[in-house]
Amino acid sequence: MKILVINCGSSSLKYQLLDMDNQNPIAKGLVERIGLPGAVLTHRPDGGEKEIITAEIPNHSVAISLVLDALVNPEYGVVNSLDEIGAVGHRVVHGGEKFASSVLIDDEVMAAIEECIELAPLHNPPNIAGIRACQELMPNVPHVAVFDTAFHQTMPPHAYLYGLPYELYEKYKIRKYGFHGTSHKYVSQRAAKILNRPTEGLKLISCHLGNGASITAIKDGKSIETSMGFTPLEGLMMGTRSGDLDPAVVSFIQQKENFSSEEVNDFLNKKCGVLGLSGVSSDFRDIEQARDQGNYRAGLALDVFSHDVKKYIGAYSAALGGVDAIIFTAGLGENSPEMRLKVTENLEYLGVDIDPEQNNVRGKEVDVSKPEATCRVLVIPTNEELMIALDTLEIAQRG
Ligand code: ADP
Repeated sequence: MKILVINCGSSSLKYQLLDMDNQNPIAKGLVERIGLPGAVLTHRPDGGEKEIITAEIPNHSVAISLVLDALVNPEYGVVNSLDEIGAVGHRVVHGGEKFASSVLIDDEVMAAIEECIELAPLHNPPNIAGIRACQELMPNVPHVAVFDTAFHQTMPPHAYLYGLPYELYEKYKIRKYGFHGTSHKYVSQRAAKILNRPTEGLKLISCHLGNGASITAIKDGKSIETSMGFTPLEGLMMGTRSGDLDPAVVSFIQQKENFSSEEVNDFLNKKCGVLGLSGVSSDFRDIEQARDQGNYRAGLALDVFSHDVKKYIGAYSAALGGVDAIIFTAGLGENSPEMRLKVTENLEYLGVDIDPEQNNVRGKEVDVSKPEATCRVLVIPTNEELMIALDTLEIAQRG
């Protein structure tokens, strides 16, 4: 079966068409600047040339119809007819407490995703727009929702509750939800395969270190604790997000800088993290380069970030009662041998022992530990699209 995976952001749309017989992508692409001047679709058939299509793209519905046109285009398309696509998997950021796994989308599910808009006002609306547009153009195939939050629904209350009056959880559903679930689930399943162990009894710490970054403790294949919280702002310091702060800092900044509550939220999401600390960039490559040229604040940002990751690994090994493997994934985790070394330095007490030569790897699935290490360190490129497609296939086949 061929499965189309759709990931709609507010002004962008990423897609991938996968052939599930071999799990390989047939084509992938990106629509940018939806609703803005200069909108563009970049479509790339697997192994083929990039095709750039410019058009007026006022909304997600037009974006999706352009994507479907590109997929069947006689010149650079990859299927003869849309009938070849057996199902569509949609990434949905927030499923609240309603969804602990992926689901076939029906009216009831759509209503529940709409209810979660309050929890993810920036993310769920474009996700919903993408689903509606796709359903209109492909009414006869199953559409499946795959939630970023679902994998973390196994967290016990002692991990997801904050030190707030319980009534606020009951009234407003304020709790830790966690994100990047599709990625953490995918790499943890790969880790079990690499280690040749059943997920039962396996204790993993998965470090998804990209522009957004989060760490998850996984026991018996289930998330038991994760660093992102009510929103993706909590946890590690990230490219532009502050991560954990003393909550009193928020109102202090608000007062001093004369920010509204929206402005302070925007500030903490977009102007902080390694960007704010380094003053250089949100991109770790730029920061490593600036540090090498003697920029003090760039070095400081890298030190704070790696210290943050190390602290979470320590905390989560305590929550798990030991750790069999630490996984590094996403842009920085997959591609920065230096960051992996920095993070795992002094973790010998956990049984970590990295082989620096093996560790000198980028974007490949490798166990970078010395043979005798009792806690393995794994580099596993994430593949959220494949995970979404696998869930979609399973649900579509269930009928
Ligand atoms: P997201 O999906 O959250 O936007 P990615 O997973 O693509 O992010 O990760 C982007 C981050 O990965 C950027 O900060 C980038 O600097 C970092 N990154 C990518 N390649 C490298 C590299 N070779 N060395 C260091 N950092 C890298």
